[in-house]
Amino acid sequence: MEDAIIISADLHCHSTMSDGVLAPEDVARRAHANGVTLWALTDHDILDGVPAARAQAQALGMGFIAGVEISVTWAGHTVHIVGLNVDDAHTGLVEGLRSIREGRSGRAEEMGRRLDAMGVENSYQGALSYVSNPALISRTHFARYLVEKGYCANFPEVFKRYLGEDSPGYVPMQWSSLEQAVNWILQAGGRAVIAHPGRYNYTPVQFGALFDQFRELGGEAIEVVTGSHAPHQYSEYAEVARHYGFLASCGSDFHSPDENRLDLGRLPAMPADLTPVWHDWIQI
Ligand code: AMP
Ligand code: MN
Ligand code: MN
Ligand code: MN
Repeated sequence: MEDAIIISADLHCHSTMSDGVLAPEDVARRAHANGVTLWALTDHDILDGVPAARAQAQALGMGFIAGVEISVTWAGHTVHIVGLNVDDAHTGLVEGLRSIREGRSGRAEEMGRRLDAMGVENSYQGALSYVSNPALISRTHFARYLVEKGYCANFPEVFKRYLGEDSPGYVPMQWSSLEQAVNWILQAGGRAVIAHPGRYNYTPVQFGALFDQFRELGGEAIEVVTGSHAPHQYSEYAEVARHYGFLASCGSDFHSPDENRLDLGRLPAMPADLTPVWHDWIQI
């Protein structure tokens, strides 16, 4: 019998190019040190970290997949769609991502005004002090400031009291449509994945419509095991993958050594009957 080839895949994480705290090369090093053998960097709405990530992964002999996590507005709420194995130089994808990044600066200024009105001092400047890529200011940067200054004890409290969709500091955004995001990914030769489906506040009927529409558009996969799911949701979304015939993806959603439930590469195995999203990418 042939030896089974064990793949340790981590296909969702962030660098300083978006709201992570480690440079792309350092995320690569940490993934490799933690035993990852197939790795994707998936920064929010930007591919600029991919060349450095790829070069470092190659230097370490670690399998690399170019990725991105795209912000989408669907039925009035934000959904994240991960694109994996994309051509990171594809003009349609690169320009599409640029177009959805454009509103972030103005939104951040408005977020700062709203937080000021809630008694948080100097939040816009404070958030900026955490921003490493001026094109990508996010709620995570505000969250770091709110925790640093003692307004909140941790991220869950920040998003509950200040920055979550139902909180007064939340500034709604019109991101891309689901159709645009999936099309950009497919045109760039990639595979579209619904990120952390367990995080969205949809009704069961809306979830059904989201999965159906995503599949009709050519979306093929969902995340089953992710640091953004509670462990009981692994089996729940494994069942969704079986029901809809989706490929299954997994990733830590790592942003920082101090902020996440799961570190890079520290993922439980996916149920063995699921087809992994990487099943036809592996070149040995
Ligand atoms: P943005 O793209 O600016 O809306 O920021 C979204 C980011 O905020 C996500 O990618 C997460 O990193 C972070 N985030 C959102 N909701 C939460 C939450 N409930 N707890 C911790 N982090 C969150
Ligand atoms: Mn993030
Ligand atoms: Mn996400
Ligand atoms: Mn993410």
